[in-house]
Amino acid sequence: MASEMVLGVFCLAATAPLEGLGYADDLVRGLSWLGRTTDAARQGIGLAKRACELGKQIGKRSVKALRVAAKRGVRAAKRALKSVGDTPRAMRLPATDGRLTGSGTSGYTTPDGRVFLDPALNGAQRVETMRHESVHAFLSPQGDDALATVRQNAGQWGYESSAFLNATEEMAAQWYASGSLRNAWSHAFNGAYTVRGGTVVTPSLWAAEFAAGASVVGGLGYVFYQLGVRE
Ligand SMILES: [Zn+2]
Repeated sequence: MASEMVLGVFCLAATAPLEGLGYADDLVRGLSWLGRTTDAARQGIGLAKRACELGKQIGKRSVKALRVAAKRGVRAAKRALKSVGDTPRAMRLPATDGRLTGSGTSGYTTPDGRVFLDPALNGAQRVETMRHESVHAFLSPQGDDALATVRQNAGQWGYESSAFLNATEEMAAQWYASGSLRNAWSHAFNGAYTVRGGTVVTPSLWAAEFAAGASVVGGLGYVFYQLGVRE
């Protein structure tokens, strides 16, 4: 029995280092596994990070692209608005003039193309008057520089001095406004339009001036009536 015990202790003592080596091996394997796992985890994290970065970049690029597109859109809109504002002969938004109410005149255009309407007009009247005045505005050079002023005064002088120019412009304006040439004719010769300080514009005067070549008055371009308006 004692000898068995001795053998047992001996075996234990002999295998202890081997056991120890075995544990050590296990430990190394374990550490290595842990390392591999850590590496894999690290790689996974790295991949995830890269995916996030990529997503962010794509997002940023999309946001940037959107921002650029929005900016371009705003710029284009601004340019379009500016070009509308810069159009030399476009009618500006009409203002109203309360003095027109009950005067028999529904609107007027200043020599530099500003339009004023009777605030009491109903919708249909306002549309027709706006169309009528828009022709006067089209024929009125806008701006306040020297050349524009000369052209404005020349145009106004022609309108107020020549029955031919006055009636022709009125017919054009009313034809555009009503779509009816007959309406345009009776409007231009309704007896309300006068030239040279009181001469009523009539068809015969219009024809006579046309025949006499008086239609070239606009070419004189001299300052006469700076404050006149066209109705
Ligand atoms: Zn008119």
